[in-house]
Amino acid sequence: MFNRLYIHVPFCKNKCHYCAFVSTTPDNNELMEYPGLLGRELQLRTGKAEPLESIYFGGGTPSLLKPEQVAGLLGEIAAQIPIRKEAEITLEANPGTVDLLSLMAFHNAGINRISLGVQSFDDRFLSCLGRIHSAEQSRQAFQAARQAGFTNISIDLIHSLPGQSLDQWRFELQQAVNLGPEHISIYGLTVEADTPFSRQYPANSPDLADEDLSADMFEYTDEFLSGSGFDHYEIANYARPGYRSQHNSGYWQRDGYLGLGVAAHSFLRDGYGVRFSNPDTLEEYRQGILSGQLKRVDEQRLTEDDAMAEYMFLGLRLADGICQCAFEREFGQSFAEVYGSVTVNLVRLGLLSQNGEILALTQRGMLLSNQVFVHFIQSPIYS
Ligand code: SF4
Repeated sequence: MFNRLYIHVPFCKNKCHYCAFVSTTPDNNELMEYPGLLGRELQLRTGKAEPLESIYFGGGTPSLLKPEQVAGLLGEIAAQIPIRKEAEITLEANPGTVDLLSLMAFHNAGINRISLGVQSFDDRFLSCLGRIHSAEQSRQAFQAARQAGFTNISIDLIHSLPGQSLDQWRFELQQAVNLGPEHISIYGLTVEADTPFSRQYPANSPDLADEDLSADMFEYTDEFLSGSGFDHYEIANYARPGYRSQHNSGYWQRDGYLGLGVAAHSFLRDGYGVRFSNPDTLEEYRQGILSGQLKRVDEQRLTEDDAMAEYMFLGLRLADGICQCAFEREFGQSFAEVYGSVTVNLVRLGLLSQNGEILALTQRGMLLSNQVFVHFIQSPIYS
C-alpha cells in the first residue's frame, strides 16, 4: 500500500562538484523518451494504491522536463490512482533551468509547490559548487515562481561550504528570508566519496568547516529562522505555519510511497513494510520497463524489529517527536520494554527530552542526531 508517489528525474545539465545523486547529462532523445518509461512503470507497479496525498518530482533536475510532459504524466497518474484534491504536488527546480513562462506552464500543469535549489546567494560559492546558475538567477526564479502563481515555495541552502565563515552564513540566511519563502531546507555540506569535491577537499582539508563551526552555523540557523517566523519542524527543515512539506513528512511518518524512475526508492506498507529501489542506470531501467520485468533492487522485507527501529529514527527527526502510546498502538508492545533503557540513557545525556508520553530530540540531539539514531539500531532488540 502507498499513498505518496515519488518520481525521479535522473538528468542534470551539468554535474555539480559535490553531487553523489544518480544523475547524468541527457541527450534530447533520452529526455523525450523518459516520461513514457515512467508512464509504463506506473502501469507495471501501481498495485495497491490509496488516494494520493502527495506527488514529488525530484532529481536530478525535474525542471528539465517540459511542462507538457509533466502535465501528461500527472494525467496518466490521475487516470490510474485518485489524487486527493488537496494533494501537495512538488517539482524540484534548478534556478538555471526555469523562467516565468515555464513556471506558469508547470503551475497550469498541476504543480502547486516549487522547491528551488538555490544552495547559496554568493556567486563564489556557487562557482565552487559547480552550480549552473548565479545568485541573481535564483532571485529571479523565485520572483518568477511567485508571479506564476506559486504560493508555496521552498528553497534549499547548504552551509559549511569550503572557507565559509559564520558571518557569510548569516548573510545567506538573511538573503533567504528577504525573498519570503514558505519553506527552507538547510543541509550541511558532506563531501561524498568519488566526487570532484572528495579529491579537492580530502577529510583533513583546512578549507572544510570543523565540527565547532558547523555546530555554530546549525545553532545560529535555528535561532535566526525561528526568530523570523519559521518553525524548525525537522532536523534540516523550517516552515512557515501551515507549510511543512507534506511529502517529506510522510517519509518520516513511514507512509507508503511508490518511487518511479531510475534509482527511485519505494516503501510499501505491506506487513511491517518492504523497501526496494529501481536499477540505477537508464539502460537497465529502460530494459526492465520494455521487457515488463523491472527488477526490485536491494529488496528488504522489514521485520518487526526493523520497523520499530525505523519508527524511532525516522519519527525522531520531527521536532514533534514520537508518542510512546502511538508506538504501542502500532506494534502492540510496551515501549518501556522495547526502548525504555535506551531512551532513559539518551534523556540523561541531554539528547532527548521527555514530556509525558512524548519523546523528542533536544537541540543538541538534533545536532548529534546520527549518534542518537545509532542507539536504536544497536538496541538490545538487535542482539
Ligand atoms: S543539480 Fe542537483 S542532482 Fe544535479 S548535479 Fe547538481 S546537485 Fe546533483
